[in-house]
Amino acid sequence: MRYDLHTHTLHSDGTLTAPELVAHARACGVDALALTDHDSTSGVAEARAAAATCGLTLIPGVEISVTWDGLTVHILGLGIDTRCEPLEQGLTRLRTFRDGRALEIDRRLRKSRVDGALDYVRAHVRGAIFARTHFARFLIERGYVRDMRQAFKRYLGRGAPAYVPGQWATLVDAVGWIRAAGGVAVIAHPGRYGLTHAKLTRLLAEFQEYGGRGIEVVSGNHDPATTARFAGIAVARGLLGSIGSDYHGPGQSRVELGRLPELPRGCAPVWEAF
Ligand code: AMP
Ligand code: MN
Ligand code: MN
Ligand code: MN
Repeated sequence: MRYDLHTHTLHSDGTLTAPELVAHARACGVDALALTDHDSTSGVAEARAAAATCGLTLIPGVEISVTWDGLTVHILGLGIDTRCEPLEQGLTRLRTFRDGRALEIDRRLRKSRVDGALDYVRAHVRGAIFARTHFARFLIERGYVRDMRQAFKRYLGRGAPAYVPGQWATLVDAVGWIRAAGGVAVIAHPGRYGLTHAKLTRLLAEFQEYGGRGIEVVSGNHDPATTARFAGIAVARGLLGSIGSDYHGPGQSRVELGRLPELPRGCAPVWEAF
């Protein structure tokens, strides 16, 4: 079985529709796919319907934005019931924050003599949320920057002029919503946060105390050494290991859908908990 448990569509900041993502996953040999759009589950019904027609197992999911100790951390909810009220109310609050943040990003871009970002983003966003990725695509298309990396470094990332600090969910709330929806909470791309060993230990301890159960050991964002490191941490702490490309569409991500190494030996797979 080939698993890919971290993907995006036009319902957040991916570039494919949900049926296109499912068809592409099938073509790439994926057997079980989790759709995990940012702070929204609006694509799940469409993806589920498309998956049923081609024999793909669709795992309903979400990637929740969390503010923890001043950092933004992403928590995946896998195998969730999307009709869960506490979850949907929590996500609605995060999307409302995103609406206001988009206005503020636009205001700050104008101060840096970049005009028209919000108009462009409003015209191009087809899903439920405004993401920095949409602003980055505007900056690339208008020639302000060469690529995504530069868009975040020069304008949108932490410390850059149009960076607006997130006021996302608390860790305890995000894990609680996922559990209320019958899902498994998984820390996304742990190698991306640049945490010291001490701070990572604190994050994992809190996460597990609240009922979080998994960690994305194999990620499109991880090099082999990072994968090995987090596999060791998963085994030592009794966390389940997950596999996810963080696919955002053709040409948008470092790795192709489903093209990921297997979970290292000794690591208990998260899908055994579904
Ligand atoms: P947001 O949740 O709207 O603040 O945007 C976060 C999204 O921006 C992530 O999910 C990534 O898709 C993208 N992103 C963040 N940092 C970078 C980066 N340095 N390079 C490319 N994409 C990034
Ligand atoms: Mn994204
Ligand atoms: Mn993420
Ligand atoms: Mn993601």
